[in-house]
Amino acid sequence: MGVFNVEPHINRLVIPSKLHSVLLADLHMSHVGMVKTKTLARLYFWWPSLDREIEQTITNCNACRQYQVNPPKAQLSPQAWPSGPN
Ligand SMILES: [Zn+2]
Repeated sequence: MGVFNVEPHINRLVIPSKLHSVLLADLHMSHVGMVKTKTLARLYFWWPSLDREIEQTITNCNACRQYQVNPPKAQLSPQAWPSGPN
């Protein structure tokens, strides 16, 4: 259970730097992309290097890196070549 399973609070929290990595790891638990993670983070908290730390968290995330290297391959669906018009 993450700490983000609650409604966003109206006032964002300013978090001590030693907790940044814990919060970012929890925020990135579902491995959403960079833009969504930043958007979600801004709902809950802010600090001056937030964007850069989110980028580092995702860049260093093993699960995301693996997914980028081996994206699921699209299935080709061959269709019969038409023999002529109609
Ligand atoms: Zn990830």
